[in-house]
Amino acid sequence: MPTLVDTEKNGLNSKPPYNCGMNEHSHPTCADTTDAIRIIEQADLKQLNTFGLPCVADRLYPIHSVEGLQAALKQCANAPFTVLGGGSNVLLPEKLGNVLHMDIMGRALAGETDDAWLVRVGAGEEWHSLVRWTLEKGLPGLENLSLIPGSVGAAPVQNIGAYGVELADRLHSVEAWDQHTQQHVTLMRDDCTFAYRDSIFKQQPGRYIITHVVLQLAKTWHAQLRYRDVADDLTTQGITTPTALNISNAVIRIRTRKLPDWREIGNVGSFFKNPVVDAEHFASLAAQHPNMPHYPQADGSIKLAAGWLIEQSGWKGQSRGQVGCYDKQALVLVNLGNASRDDVLGLANAIVSDVQQKFRVQLEREPVLIN
Ligand SMILES: Cc1cc2nc3c(=O)[nH]c(=O)nc-3n(C[C@H](O)[C@H](O)[C@H](O)COP(=O)(O)OP(=O)(O)OC[C@H]3O[C@@H](n4cnc5c(N)ncnc54)[C@H](O)[C@@H]3O)c2cc1C
Repeated sequence: MPTLVDTEKNGLNSKPPYNCGMNEHSHPTCADTTDAIRIIEQADLKQLNTFGLPCVADRLYPIHSVEGLQAALKQCANAPFTVLGGGSNVLLPEKLGNVLHMDIMGRALAGETDDAWLVRVGAGEEWHSLVRWTLEKGLPGLENLSLIPGSVGAAPVQNIGAYGVELADRLHSVEAWDQHTQQHVTLMRDDCTFAYRDSIFKQQPGRYIITHVVLQLAKTWHAQLRYRDVADDLTTQGITTPTALNISNAVIRIRTRKLPDWREIGNVGSFFKNPVVDAEHFASLAAQHPNMPHYPQADGSIKLAAGWLIEQSGWKGQSRGQVGCYDKQALVLVNLGNASRDDVLGLANAIVSDVQQKFRVQLEREPVLIN
């Protein structure tokens, strides 16, 4: 059995990336809650979204606990609010009203089933740190998902995935505040209606605020090496029987090579989902483009590579104003300095329209447009 661990730390080590200077205060009416509510007025969120879009929130509520969440919701009363984790999958507008920044910390081995260890994690924990921590503790299973930016609480929202593994493959349950029933609920994996970059949390936006995620990591581990990039990297390193840590390191090397570091060049990772077409449509495309990368799906449909379609449409390395299509990976749009959200959407729409015209394939945006 792995070392029993419990590192509940209630946010003491977390550093807010937003500007919390002069206008920060604790709200007196909430002084009697276990987690007195903190409100930051006119918070600058440019550092709290990885595209680096300019955004100011009227009121930002850092959320460190379930009690803190309830107090903040009470404070917002019936006014609309936005839930934010690491801001790595959002396109923010220039102004927002109430923003709840999820910063609930804590990782603990919470139990076990016959086949798996259960690890319960606070929504505010950083995803990649969690991956490395599980590996250090001898709990493999998340290694293919190394170096995905963002928070644990957002991971179920788009069912994060990379290199042949999706969160849904490793998820036991999600604990969330349900705005409809006004109750704290637990959704088991099958309740989450996971699909490719999709879940109930995307399908019913605004309904659930995720406070904790429970992962199930199989006691019997199998390396997932379906993706050629990972297998090739390991071969280059001379590794024939990789451990989970070897795979994590390989994924980190590959991602560092391929993707821009958002701290240096603003981006949200893949800007478009890989489109799925039916067999008939694919056959007509393949007749014209025999080299088109394609991935047959279990239901007979075919997944295409959005990056390839964009590259073939001539956009790789091109820019419009302050936004570019990354020269090493056409699927990534980058902030060339002072991009506005309109600039980003302008380039994205031009790409969608060209791909539609050339291939009769509709690209769908991956990041969430926050209004
Ligand atoms: C360089 C780069 C590479 C990336 N690579 C991948 C990849 O390989 N695979 C992949 O799947 N994604 C990838 N992404 C996208 C992104 O990292 C993930 O979608 C991540 O899960 C977003 O986490 P976040 O905390 O930043 O969410 P945010 O951007 O803050 O929020 C995203 C959405 O989730 C909602 N949300 C956030 N927290 C909660 C919560 N606690 N409860 C309810 N709703 C919430 C928000 O309201 C918003 O709608 C990449 C992004 C970047 C910048």
